[in-house]
Amino acid sequence: MHDVLVVGAGLSGLYAATLLREKGLSVQVLEARDRVGGRTFSDRVDGVRVDLGGQWIGPTQDRAYALVRRLGLSTFPSFHQGKKLLDIGGRSSSYAGSIPSLPPLQLIELELTIRRLEQLAKNPQPGQDSLSLAQWADRHIRSSRVREVMAIAVRVIFGADPEELSFYHFLSYVRSAGSLRRLVEIDNGAQQDRVVEGTHSLSRLLAEALEPAVRTGTPVRRVRETTKGLVVETDRGDFEGRRMILAVPPALAGRIAWEPPVPLARDLLCQRMPMGGTIKCVALYEQAFWRDAGWSGEVTAAGNPLTVVFDNTTAEGVPALVGFIVGGDARRWGLAGDEVRRAAVLAQLGRWFGEKATKPRAYVDKDWAQDPWSRGCPIGITGPGTLTTVGSALRTGWGRIHIAGTESADQWCGFLEGALQAAERSAAEVLEEFRLRS
Ligand SMILES: Cc1cc2nc3c(=O)[nH]c(=O)nc-3n(C[C@H](O)[C@H](O)[C@H](O)COP(=O)(O)OP(=O)(O)OC[C@H]3O[C@@H](n4cnc5c(N)ncnc54)[C@H](O)[C@@H]3O)c2cc1C
Repeated sequence: MHDVLVVGAGLSGLYAATLLREKGLSVQVLEARDRVGGRTFSDRVDGVRVDLGGQWIGPTQDRAYALVRRLGLSTFPSFHQGKKLLDIGGRSSSYAGSIPSLPPLQLIELELTIRRLEQLAKNPQPGQDSLSLAQWADRHIRSSRVREVMAIAVRVIFGADPEELSFYHFLSYVRSAGSLRRLVEIDNGAQQDRVVEGTHSLSRLLAEALEPAVRTGTPVRRVRETTKGLVVETDRGDFEGRRMILAVPPALAGRIAWEPPVPLARDLLCQRMPMGGTIKCVALYEQAFWRDAGWSGEVTAAGNPLTVVFDNTTAEGVPALVGFIVGGDARRWGLAGDEVRRAAVLAQLGRWFGEKATKPRAYVDKDWAQDPWSRGCPIGITGPGTLTTVGSALRTGWGRIHIAGTESADQWCGFLEGALQAAERSAAEVLEEFRLRS
């Protein structure tokens, strides 16, 4: 019997297992996919390594930077020098710095709205869970263009449209990141740095150090709690453990059969926290022609398909753009099929950056909704009325089960940093249980 079974070899499960092993516990990590890393995933495209999952880290994400250093990896800054493009309602305009090119009154309203949201996020109130973010915006933002700019930010951060997201969830999320500006900015924000070796290396190297305690291709189907411990049934046989860290998002945890059934609040949460929708699109080029023309590569748009674009030139210097199809667009363009989507993305890049953008040396995209072990990304989202009723089940375990995974973090929830913070918290809970019983 293992001391601890960890379900899910994403960054959170692997880091929790590492921390427990360091304290002398025996661990077994069970991973459904035939690879580790979950929502961190680097693939080779035309011989070039491309991050198709989480890729950026930024200031105050101290655990992520520390892990990068500990594993002998390094970071490099995201490129963002030059003009940026705002394309809303068929009107496009360029701007410099981080303030979008809006008429003065709209700029003032945008600034006031951000300040107001920063203030509200310091202390989210349960009453705010009865509203969607769209309802709040309709009541408090006069300019439709400012509402659209806010909606774009929300779609990109959550992979969800403002109509789908509880205002309370939004504020709690901003609070866990420290500020809204920090969430959206490149410089001094969550998009500041990238990992030279790709973020997947974090998961890969943690898993290598844990070998042979990581079993891939081993989906957990059923968990039975007995008087002595837990029996976990997988496609590769049964595993026994004294305690478990469940490091999968609620939407996937709800697909596991539990005996006895999970507590009611947990079950309701798992039913009511679907994954957001994001398709990450990367185009590799021979030349960074947008830089030559004075563009930073950054675009903020009303979607259909892309909502944001950034320069994604690799650490080795291969020119690249990355774009995101998010929220309802991700559902529509996911259903549209690979070829139709690729053509639409390249045509849109062409409208912004010219003919050369339509002819990449390679193009790849990943619709995370079509990946059965993520079913969407970047994170699980909740509509009104969920967090204030069953939100406590996000990180409260039951029986012999402890919860990890970025959705359960209270610092940088939804990010790589959150995955690490949740791992630390869940590992500390398990260690406390073993200390009490020794
Ligand atoms: C496109 C995209 C862009 C993102 N951008 C950023 C970014 O720039 N910066 C950032 O910080 N974050 C970003 N994120 C979010 C970040 O990647 C995640 O927060 C983080 O990787 C989550 O780690 P986790 O271990 O909590 O969950 P996961 O990585 O989802 O790990 C869960 C694991 O559990 C496994 N699993 C599920 N069900 C079972 C089962 N029944 N049995 C066994 N195993 C199971 C899954 O296969 C998976 O490996 C992005 C994510 C995506 C997808």
